[in-house]
Amino acid sequence: MEADWFDGRSSRALRVSLRLSVDGRSLLVEPVGPDADVPAEAWPLAETTITPRLGRAPRILRRPGCGQLEVADAPLFDAWFPGGGGWIERSADWLERRRWMMVASAMAVVSLVLAVALVGVPLAAGLVAERMPRSIERHASDQVLALLEHAGIRPTALPAVRQAGLARQFRALVAREPRAGEMALAFVRGGRLGANAFALPDGRIFVTDELVELAGSDDELLAVLAHEAGHHVHRHAMRGALESSSALLLAGVLFGDVSGSSLSVGLPAALLSSRFSRGHERQADAYAFVLLQRHGRTPGAFASLLRRLARAGDPAETAGYFSSHPPSAERIAAAEAAASAGGGSTEPPGRL
Ligand SMILES: [Zn+2]
Repeated sequence: MEADWFDGRSSRALRVSLRLSVDGRSLLVEPVGPDADVPAEAWPLAETTITPRLGRAPRILRRPGCGQLEVADAPLFDAWFPGGGGWIERSADWLERRRWMMVASAMAVVSLVLAVALVGVPLAAGLVAERMPRSIERHASDQVLALLEHAGIRPTALPAVRQAGLARQFRALVAREPRAGEMALAFVRGGRLGANAFALPDGRIFVTDELVELAGSDDELLAVLAHEAGHHVHRHAMRGALESSSALLLAGVLFGDVSGSSLSVGLPAALLSSRFSRGHERQADAYAFVLLQRHGRTPGAFASLLRRLARAGDPAETAGYFSSHPPSAERIAAAEAAASAGGGSTEPPGRL
């Protein structure tokens, strides 16, 4: 059997022929062809290490002080020194020799990553968001607010009595809801955000003056506030931010750029930039419809406000917060379906 011998003295490989000795205890290394004048050597197997078989990779034999031999994929050699290595090397070899296994394992890796991204990350984000300390929620909210101030929100110009009236109605609406103690209504002039509303992770729910001016009635505003309360109850802001920063982290792991800072730097930015997912919007809408009906209000008011936003060119589409991820038409239809199914009935509180 032929092999290449890198003897460690010359950079050139010597062409050699390999034979097992009669007693099977050593390997006879005999230079051939142009290198036939180089003295042959006997390598005791006890002193020689042989790399395990791995697919079609060449097997390497090393003997201290004598350099190394490279044997290209040779069934005869494999017969002399089958496998070698532990079970990991043997399974790796088994896998390497099967092309379909390579395709299958690549697909398995892709599906695993997808499963982690689509199921594992949202699941983990939900669990983490539920255990997020209040101090972090407040800190993250302050940072978002600072960014929004930078983006042009200004103190409200709404008369105090108008603010108080809406706040009173909002309190009554959410009084018996989970996390109600954390929710607080606040008003700002939206500027570039236009007619908009958004819920921060700490429970502050902001409504822009522009939205108050656009709304045709308090019912419409309360419908939006119910939707924002849904985001807070389900911790969508924090979950969304954790999901998108986990996606960054996951990408970092996959593409080899894991700086520990990516999460801490990414969180406020993710809070600001991540529009709620379609799933979160639908969940908040559904929550709002039930809450409104329980208080004898109609989800139809939500539909009419969405229509108004659409007619006004919906600056929220570009600004992000009260965003229309699911197309407005679909949300309007859902609100109207809920309105006609419930008929604005006055179910006893707490039934759902
Ligand atoms: Zn929303």
